Amino acid sequence: MDILDDLRNGEETVWLNPDRRHVVPREKIDGYGFARMKAAQMRFMRFMPWVEKAFPETAARKGVIESGLLEITNMKDRMNAEGAGVTGRVLLKDDAHLPIAGSVKARGGIHEVLAIAEKTAQNADMLWPTENYGKVYSDAFREFYSRYTIQVGSTGNLGISIGRTAARLGFKVTVHMSSDAKEWKKELLRSEGVTVVEYEGDYSEAVANGRKQSEMDENSFFIDDENSEDLFFGYSTAAMRVSVQLRKMNIPVDSKHPLFLYLPCGVGGAPGGITFGFRQLYGDNVHCFFAEPVQAPCLTLGMATGKGADICVQDIGLDGRTNADGLAVGRPSGFVCRMMKPLMSGSFTVFDERMADWQEKLRELEGISVELSACAGFRGLFEVENEGTAFADYLRREKVAETMEQATHIVWATGGGLMPDA
Ligand SMILES: *Cc1c(COP(=O)(O)O)cnc(C)c1O
Repeated sequence: MDILDDLRNGEETVWLNPDRRHVVPREKIDGYGFARMKAAQMRFMRFMPWVEKAFPETAARKGVIESGLLEITNMKDRMNAEGAGVTGRVLLKDDAHLPIAGSVKARGGIHEVLAIAEKTAQNADMLWPTENYGKVYSDAFREFYSRYTIQVGSTGNLGISIGRTAARLGFKVTVHMSSDAKEWKKELLRSEGVTVVEYEGDYSEAVANGRKQSEMDENSFFIDDENSEDLFFGYSTAAMRVSVQLRKMNIPVDSKHPLFLYLPCGVGGAPGGITFGFRQLYGDNVHCFFAEPVQAPCLTLGMATGKGADICVQDIGLDGRTNADGLAVGRPSGFVCRMMKPLMSGSFTVFDERMADWQEKLRELEGISVELSACAGFRGLFEVENEGTAFADYLRREKVAETMEQATHIVWATGGGLMPDA
């Protein structure tokens, strides 16, 4: 396979999913449907009164955790001047500036912590779904949660979203961090009272150790980024929110107005959950592409070989090292690979230096500051309407080649909002 040669050689490449199939809105995928996304959305809403009190920065929006959907015309013009050739509208989903976590992890990680908090309190007869959850912001609840520990393996941002939320609820929290994690992320967590355990090895090792430690303690919950459904469906709620934002901007999504998403990918949970949600809402009219660093293309590898989580980037001689720490993952989630088979459109890989270039330009031209990982999606703009790449076949096959002028492209900026200036 040519694609494997490209991956092995650390070249930028494009992979198109031959198994993407027709789905209708709200169709069940592998038994999972709209109800799961809706349930996650409802849980976020029940906890709004607690979020508003625990994180005063969310008070202006009454505890809603949301980010802007921004038109980035200057950036589009610059990309086109450099050869991109995009004719439709270009938007940025600014999840770097989601409150609390400063990254897309606010959707997945916070949702799973809230699910644990809700379940434990309900089992103890302390909380009912019809109550105002503002009562959770109290010493009584903090004392209750302090009997439990939440643990997670993280390259940084998942630890921040889970660590901050769980610590403010009152849980004891341990974050197992891989060697890729940036120092400022560890310091931020320690300042919130979170225990940070550092590993020499990569992300998979941090996860494996965290899982083992958690299993030894019956009052410990392990948040498993490689398998978790609560993370996945938390991420999926983004689709419901963005659909409202698009409507408010009078941007249609239908067979004459296709929507393209470019989603930075690590283990696959965030882009996978987002893809699930958008296809639940828009069926075939949304086209989701994942973006990975050339040294850590774990999901592309798992999907292209059909091996899912049974193959890792080290197996093909890559070292997994990248400055895009949010994407520095060597082995994809098996659950996500299975779910994405009928849903995702494809993926592409990106050199770190190009991400750095786009990061700088986004700050310069749009005044938006994000981390390196958040910029991987910009490559999609250079490929999607380029006659010379495999995308041209894709557009014809999906019967959208004639509608590209009415298309909307969303580059998902996944993190960096809490990044220190230095
Ligand atoms: C975690 C993360 C991603 C990717 O999410 P996965 O669930 O690991 O695929 C992308 N960008 C940033 C900044 C992240 O922190």
